[in-house]
Amino acid sequence: MEFEEQQVLLRNTVSRFAKEQLAPLASEIDQQERFPRETFEKMAELGLLGLGIPEEYGGFRGKIVEACIVGEKLARYCASTAASWGAHVDLCAANICRNGTEEQKKRFLPDLATGKKLGGMAMTEPDAGSDVLAMKTRAVQDGDFYVLNGRKTFITNGPVGDLFLVYARTDPKARGKGITAFVVEKGFDGFTSGKKLEKLGWRGSPTGDLIFEDCRVPRENIIGEVNGGVKILMSGLNSERLLLAAESLGLGRACLEDSVQYARERVQFGKRIADFQMVMEKLARMATKVEAVKAMVWSQAFKMSENGPAAMTMETAAAKLLASEMALQNALDATQIFGGYGYIREFPVERYLRDARIMTIGGGTSEIMCQVIFRELEKGL
Ligand SMILES: Cc1cc2nc3c(=O)[nH]c(=O)nc-3n(C[C@H](O)[C@H](O)[C@H](O)COP(=O)(O)OP(=O)(O)OC[C@H]3O[C@@H](n4cnc5c(N)ncnc54)[C@H](O)[C@@H]3O)c2cc1C
Repeated sequence: MEFEEQQVLLRNTVSRFAKEQLAPLASEIDQQERFPRETFEKMAELGLLGLGIPEEYGGFRGKIVEACIVGEKLARYCASTAASWGAHVDLCAANICRNGTEEQKKRFLPDLATGKKLGGMAMTEPDAGSDVLAMKTRAVQDGDFYVLNGRKTFITNGPVGDLFLVYARTDPKARGKGITAFVVEKGFDGFTSGKKLEKLGWRGSPTGDLIFEDCRVPRENIIGEVNGGVKILMSGLNSERLLLAAESLGLGRACLEDSVQYARERVQFGKRIADFQMVMEKLARMATKVEAVKAMVWSQAFKMSENGPAAMTMETAAAKLLASEMALQNALDATQIFGGYGYIREFPVERYLRDARIMTIGGGTSEIMCQVIFRELEKGL
């Protein structure tokens, strides 16, 4: 599990970038619920928006190890930025890379790689979350077009994105075998984004509804086969879960590092609070969980970079489960160690707690991760 020279270079570059460019803005974009477009322009200059896209389409190459390196470092300083970046590179661009035709890759990827267009992915609907195959957004063929009607909700980058991978039902009688993946672009007739949703955390990453009212999507924007959308969707789940685990690692590490620093400086009863055994124990347990998640994330990332994501369903669900729960618990512990200062906005730990809250929900809830893990366990019995 040794990083290669290029990976170390990437890690150092992104770490410095995140510390210098994201950290100073993180509180402001959180409080103002503002999407930091200027940060994304700088990330485009560094090649981070083209990560995973082959150079021939204007990208920066890189596999899941590189994506996890960037995801962890961005989330260490600004979980909102990591969320919007992840939706762009992983949920949208990586899937088009994996499943698009040569013509589609040439058409869509260069603008995503340079950041000219911001991407996202839309599967969730008001009545279809964990049970995503219950989606109702309908796509009906009309000559060389498909006409989409319906509403997606909770879509990361929804209010600001330009290009979305959208799943819609093409066969109302079939459940999983009646869904198709479409690329829908801003400006298509009948496609609008709803208002930005107000959130507890990830407030610098805009989330919203996508609305389709007789939206005409050209046939050539179908990714994969008609009624083959579930295959496209499933092809991205394992890398999404691992990337969310890496982002949770960044967030959990932020909680730990800030807490250690604070515990060494804060004096009560004439002692550093780090010298109280109950505080010490909390810090030791936080560090232990970070180490466990670190081992899990990097061993899986190297394995996935080598062999692809297909056979890693149980492992990635386990990594997402453990990592997201670690981030949430570490954020709770951090706010406890900071005492009253953990509850006010002067310090970032209250934001860490709000940002960590989504990690056990988005990308599949902890309950769904347990279900996936158990199903895989049963297969092996
Ligand atoms: C900030 C944010 C960003 C998001 N970004 C995107 C995005 O970019 N694209 C996208 O498509 N979606 C996105 N989502 C949606 C996200 O993936 C869903 O919220 C998530 O999958 C859960 O679905 P739900 O909210 O409908 O909850 P529900 O499915 O209604 O779940 C409610 C509760 O019931 C439990 N539950 C449900 N089914 C079972 C079961 N079978 N067994 C046990 N417990 C169960 C759940 O675990 C949960 O505790 C985002 C959500 C948020 C909040």
